[in-house]
Amino acid sequence: MPLPVPITVAAGDGIGPEIMTQTLRILKAAGAALAPEFIEVGEAVYHAGHASGIGPEAWESLRRTRVLLKAPITTPLGGGYKSLNVTLRKTLGLYANVRPCRSLYPAVATRHPTLDVVIIRENEEDLYAGIEHQQTPDVVQCLKLVSRPGCEKIVRYAFEYCRAHGRRRLTCMTKDNIMKLTDGLFHRVFTEIGREYPDIEQDHQIIDIGTARLADTPERYDVVVTMNLYGDIISDVVAQLTGSVGLAGSANIGDGGALFEAIHGSAPDIAGRNVANPSGLLQAAVLMLGHLGQHAVAARVHNAWLCTLEDGLHPADIYHPATSRRQVSTDEFAEAVIARLGQIPRQLAAMPVREDAAPVVSARPAPLPEKVPVQQQLVGVDVFLRWDGQSAAELGRQLERLTGGRLQLKLITNRGVKVYPDGHPETFCTDHWRCRFVAADALVRGSRPEFTPVPFSDVLSLLHRLVDFGFYIIKTEHLYLLNGQRAFSLGQGE
Ligand code: NAD
Repeated sequence: MPLPVPITVAAGDGIGPEIMTQTLRILKAAGAALAPEFIEVGEAVYHAGHASGIGPEAWESLRRTRVLLKAPITTPLGGGYKSLNVTLRKTLGLYANVRPCRSLYPAVATRHPTLDVVIIRENEEDLYAGIEHQQTPDVVQCLKLVSRPGCEKIVRYAFEYCRAHGRRRLTCMTKDNIMKLTDGLFHRVFTEIGREYPDIEQDHQIIDIGTARLADTPERYDVVVTMNLYGDIISDVVAQLTGSVGLAGSANIGDGGALFEAIHGSAPDIAGRNVANPSGLLQAAVLMLGHLGQHAVAARVHNAWLCTLEDGLHPADIYHPATSRRQVSTDEFAEAVIARLGQIPRQLAAMPVREDAAPVVSARPAPLPEKVPVQQQLVGVDVFLRWDGQSAAELGRQLERLTGGRLQLKLITNRGVKVYPDGHPETFCTDHWRCRFVAADALVRGSRPEFTPVPFSDVLSLLHRLVDFGFYIIKTEHLYLLNGQRAFSLGQGE
């Protein structure tokens, strides 16, 4: 018997304590060599005054064990509370979220009996950076941050995962037809790194049609790698297609540790009634056992779980008269799994007991790319104003009068749409105006926009003139060329 491995365990909120108790019972009965350290996170901790939902003692345990088995928690709405899940993922550098979804037909009713898809979701960046501002009475913003190293890590992880787990095809999903810089970077990195993996079939799909196809014919997919928000959404879609969101577990993997959890939430609507399905958390625990190298126990638990489902003992969320023999409570389900430890499923694919099975963390450390010098040149500035007037033409006239220096007004947009010069009177305008200034000589180069470098002092003197005139500047964004290439989007209609 190996020495027990210390792990941190959080029972969570809502149905969390019920499904955690039963999951730990099963792990113990199966002979998992684990030494759990219990921490409190979630609602009670938020209300005790920790805005992140986690206190200092919990961090100490996590730093020691580097492995967390976590039941879902409830994030209180509004009021400055930060999502604990996002905090944990980002603080521990858990950059890859792996969500395997497989149909359990004929044991569990589904319209997609052969579905077997793994969603690999980037876990730290994108809109989940959580940087939001109210900029004017009318307008709020959420910053979508995407970095090249962030894209490289997750894309390489996904290709390595395919190799380690014998998966043949990797599909990348983004919305780079609209977000050419952020989503475009993710797609470009996928293409670049994909060249190192000629043995893996690869394709790219726009997320909207990709989601539609996943929902319609998930059998056509193998592994999908995508950005944070899209991955969050499509993994719920695919898990639900297998029969219930209550069935799928997920692994959050990083250089600094690993976190295992069900993909569903704390289900407050059924909390405390002993009806929740513990399968999602149990599957997360199976992934954790694989991560810890306890493959034989992982297989014992997984196979006993499959046998229970095959025998038609189903919690309420997957109960179906055609496939279920009896509806069972949360603890009856756990007892049934324990009674079947050591059994092999008759129809469903059993998990092989292989001590050399591929661990969940399969990525070799990404080689650090050599830093290539990049030339960065300032060519203008977007000045965002709060302005309560209605006429873009009037704002344009006022700004034109003020821009006597080298920087000239090029255009004004409102929510991204060009409203000056030559705006359409029908365009609805808010109090949030983006005014783009570039060097005067760049404006006279014909129809193709070209940009010439300007010193930063020109930007400063422009801002002084605007403030002195009484304009209310809410933020500025610099316009750069990187290695001579435009590194900002054009306004719609620019
Ligand atoms: P949810 O996943 O908790 O529930 C959605 C529906 O699925 C509900 O009808 C619920 O009863 C059902 N369901 C979910 N898990 C089930 C299970 N194991 N067995 C049977 N039925 C199950 O989503 P929600 O209602 O949108 O969110 C509730 C709370 O959970 C929110 O506070 C949210 O912030 C939080 N949440 C936490 C996590 C996490 O901790 N990882 C993830 C998602 C949501």
